[in-house]
Amino acid sequence: MPRTPAARGVSRRRFLKGSAAWIGAGTLVPGTLACAPQGAQRDAGAVGPASIDPASIGDGPVLLRGGCVLSLDPAVGDFETADVLIDGGRISAVGPDLDAPSDVTLVDASEMVVMPGFVDTHRHMWQGAIRNSLPNGLIGDYISDILGTMRPLYRPDDVYIGDLVSALGAINAGVTTVLDWSHIGNSPEHTDAAIGGLRESGVRAVYAFGSGVAGPQNGFPEDIRRLRREHFSSDDQLLTLAMATGVSAVDWTLARDVGAPVTLHLAGPNQLRSVADAMGPDVTYIHCNDLDEASWTMIADSGGHVSISTPVEMEMGLGVPPIQEALDHGLRPSLSVDVETEVPGDLFTQMRSV
Ligand SMILES: [Zn+2]
Repeated sequence: MPRTPAARGVSRRRFLKGSAAWIGAGTLVPGTLACAPQGAQRDAGAVGPASIDPASIGDGPVLLRGGCVLSLDPAVGDFETADVLIDGGRISAVGPDLDAPSDVTLVDASEMVVMPGFVDTHRHMWQGAIRNSLPNGLIGDYISDILGTMRPLYRPDDVYIGDLVSALGAINAGVTTVLDWSHIGNSPEHTDAAIGGLRESGVRAVYAFGSGVAGPQNGFPEDIRRLRREHFSSDDQLLTLAMATGVSAVDWTLARDVGAPVTLHLAGPNQLRSVADAMGPDVTYIHCNDLDEASWTMIADSGGHVSISTPVEMEMGLGVPPIQEALDHGLRPSLSVDVETEVPGDLFTQMRSV
């Protein structure tokens, strides 16, 4: 019988974390879990959940008061009602009835679940402004309508808006870290606009530079050197760089030359032979439907990561999500929204589908 992550000694935190980096900041999710609303305990003078304005929160300490706190950290514990103190951009204390520093900004979290932000490891964020436009599409419809028809029509401004809308939607759903699988590299202006939309949103994101419509303006993959220089000169920032590509040893070499991890879609048997010597822990394989045993072993032995998009894989007809296959090879799959043209952008939908 397959064992649950807990039975294997893997914490819920590590399971949810998947292959992506964990983050220090929490998220506020309107109470949909089994926690009693506690509006009666709302602090006078506190900022209410419906009225949280980021501009009202200064640089000083912030106290999330009276939330249902799910730390997902055994060392901290979970609380039906507790506070979270954020100071200097870091969580400095978690527990019931914390003392509030005099200059604190109080946020009433009494009808909220307070928990670590979710990580979405694969989302095509340029499509944020055309979300829900293809709710019943099969993969052929998506390739024809979205990639074939919409993508060539996109101007840099459209990319900016798409990324911004998608990022704000992610934050609104408690997704505070997201990988933008950006195959809208029609021109350098398109790539820069995507990065601009992400930056404007304030989300923590991995911008994965991908190709787009072919033509003289398309700078993929070499333009990744300029992107590294102009936008990602430091890794100590909210936005970091990756390469969104395919099974290509040449591209992977270039990505590593600029210190960018690799992310690729993968399906079907016997696809990995040409990169067998290049596989490593800096590579994430998306979907992985219908892989053969040798491919699973190669991914696991190389320390690679797997990202599964269960709703899209089932809806588009990509195949049965390989959740069990990944677990059977010791791989902890992360979850990803993929395309908002088809499915909602929250990770509760992902978890329910899994
Ligand atoms: Zn995808």
